[in-house]
Amino acid sequence: MFKGIVASPGIAIGPVMLLTKKSEEILKNKRTILSVEDEKEKFKIALEKTKNDIINIKEKIIYDIGSKEGDIFNAYLQLLHDPGFVGKTEQIIREQKVNIEFALGQVLQNYLEFFNKISDPYLKERSRDISGLIERIIKNISETHAIEQKKVSGKFIIVAEDLTPTDTAELDKTKVLGFITEKGTQTSHTAIVARALEIPAVVGVKDITSNVKNGDLVIIDGDRGFAVVNPSQKVLNTYKEEQKKYLLKNKVLKKLKKLESKTQDNRKIELNANIEFAEEIGSVLENNADGIGLFRTEFIYINRANLPTEEEQFNIYKTVVQKMGKKPVTIRTLDIGGDKYLPYFKIPPEQNPFLGLRAIRLSLVNISIFSVQIRAILRASAFGNIKIMFPMITVVEEFLEAKKIVEEIKAELKKKKVNFDENIKIGAMIEVPSIVLLSDELAKYADFFSIGTNDLVQYTLAVDRGNETVAKLYDNLNPAVLKLIKMAVESAHKNNLKISVCGEMAADPVIAFLLVGLGVDELSMNSASILNVKGLIRNIKFQDAIEVADAVLKMKNSVEIKNFLFEKLKNKLKGKEKL
Ligand code: PEP
Ligand code: MG
Repeated sequence: MFKGIVASPGIAIGPVMLLTKKSEEILKNKRTILSVEDEKEKFKIALEKTKNDIINIKEKIIYDIGSKEGDIFNAYLQLLHDPGFVGKTEQIIREQKVNIEFALGQVLQNYLEFFNKISDPYLKERSRDISGLIERIIKNISETHAIEQKKVSGKFIIVAEDLTPTDTAELDKTKVLGFITEKGTQTSHTAIVARALEIPAVVGVKDITSNVKNGDLVIIDGDRGFAVVNPSQKVLNTYKEEQKKYLLKNKVLKKLKKLESKTQDNRKIELNANIEFAEEIGSVLENNADGIGLFRTEFIYINRANLPTEEEQFNIYKTVVQKMGKKPVTIRTLDIGGDKYLPYFKIPPEQNPFLGLRAIRLSLVNISIFSVQIRAILRASAFGNIKIMFPMITVVEEFLEAKKIVEEIKAELKKKKVNFDENIKIGAMIEVPSIVLLSDELAKYADFFSIGTNDLVQYTLAVDRGNETVAKLYDNLNPAVLKLIKMAVESAHKNNLKISVCGEMAADPVIAFLLVGLGVDELSMNSASILNVKGLIRNIKFQDAIEVADAVLKMKNSVEIKNFLFEKLKNKLKGKEKL
C-alpha cells in the first residue's frame, strides 16, 4: 500500500499502464496513423515546445554563465528548422503513414550511421546533440498527445512519474480508470483537471513507477490517497464493496439535483461550477449548478500550435453561455504562467514562475492577446449572462488597468455597432494577500469578488502549491488564511458586493460549512462535488455556521480548527457515510 496525496475522489480498480519514458523503446514503436495531417500538426506543436524549451535553457545559461556558453544552443535551434531533419521526418510520416516517434527513430538511425563513419571527435560528439534533441522532442510529443491510449484495448490505470495539466486533459475517459503519479499535489492543475474529468487519482506517490509493472492489478483509493498494488483477495473484495457504495451514494445525491441550495434557516448559497473545457457543460447541467463560477479559459489556449483566434474563442464562449440559458457564466481571463504554459508563447526564464509573469500580469504586458480575448468575451455576452473576472490581482491599479482595456474595447464595439452586454459585470479574483489587505479599496471598482483559495493559501504561507515535498505545509485551514478570507468578505459586504470562493476548499463540505459561516455568498467547485456540498448546506443552519466561524477565528492552529469542525458536524455527518 503506497500513501500519496488525495487528488480526485472515487475508487478505481484495474491493470497498470506504466508510462515509460525510455526514448529508445518509444522510437521503435511503429504505429499506422489515420491522419497524416493530424500527425504533422502534433509534430509542429512538439517542435514549437522544443524550440521554446531550448530558448529558455539558452537564456538561463546566458544569464547564469555567459553568452558564449548560451550560443551552443543555436545549433539545436538551427536543427529544428533544418529540412534534412524536419523535412525528412515529415516525409517518412507522409510516405509510410507512421507515427512521429517511429519516423524520428528512422531519422536518428540515419544520422547515427552517418556520424559513425566519421572519425573527427568534434563531429562525432554532434550525434549526441541530435539524440538529445530527439529525446526532448519525444518528451514534448508525449505531452502533446499524452498517452497512446487508443492502441490499448480495455481499461487501465495510468502510473507515471508526472502528468502535466495538458496530459491529464487528454486522458481518454472511456479507457482511463484513474491515475497515480509520483509528482503533484491536491491543488496542482493536474489534480484539478482530474476532478473535472471525474477520474479517481492519487498524486505524490513516491517511487510508484519503480514498484509496479504493466498489467499489475492496482487500486486507487482517491478519498484517502492510497494506491494498493497487487492487493490480496480480501482487500480487493473490501474495495469492490466500497466502490459499489460510492456509486450508490452518488445515486442518492442525484435526488438533491432539483432541490434548492438553502440552509435550514433560509440562507441561499449559490453553488456554481468550475470548468476548464466547454465539454464539461454536460456535467454542469447534470448536477444543476446555479451557474459557472469559474471558467479557466487558459485550457482553450493550451495544447495548440498557435493562439486561438477571436472567432474561435467567441464560438466557445457563446456555446457555453447559450447552453447555460439564463444562468451566469464567469469567464476568467487567461491565467498562464506558474504551472501552465503555452508551447508557442515564450515567457522569459524565471526562477519562481508562480511569482513571475503570470495571469493578469502577462495579459497587461501582452495587450494584443488580452484584447482578442476580451473582444471575444464581450461579443459572446450578447447571448447570455456573462461576467468577466481577472486572475491574480495584486494591487488595485492592475484591476483598473485591465478594466480600462475592457472599457476601450466596449467603446470600439459600440462604434462598430457590434452587440454586447453594456452592463457586463467585472470582478476580481482574490488570491494574493496584498489584495485582501487592499480589498476595501478594490471593492469600489469591482462588481464582485471571487476568492481563489488555491493560490491564496500558496501565497499566504509561501508554499508552492505544486510541490509535493512541501505539501504538508500547504494548510488551507491555517488561521492566517481564514483571517484573510474573513477580511475579504467584510470588504465585499461593506461595499455591497457578492463574494464567492472558487478554490478547491469550496468542494469540501466540512470547509464549506466554515466558509458559509464566514459569510461567503457563493461557492464554486468541480461539478461532481456540487450535490455533495448541497447535501451539507441543506442540513445546516446559517446561524450555527456563523457561531462556529466566530469560534474558529479565535483558534490558534488548523488541527484544533479541523477537530472542532468535525465535532460540530458530527451529527450532520452521521448516517451519511461522508458528506
Ligand atoms: C485558485 O487559485 O484558487 C483558483 C481558483 O485558480 P487556479 O486554481 O486556476 O489558480
Ligand atoms: Mg488561482
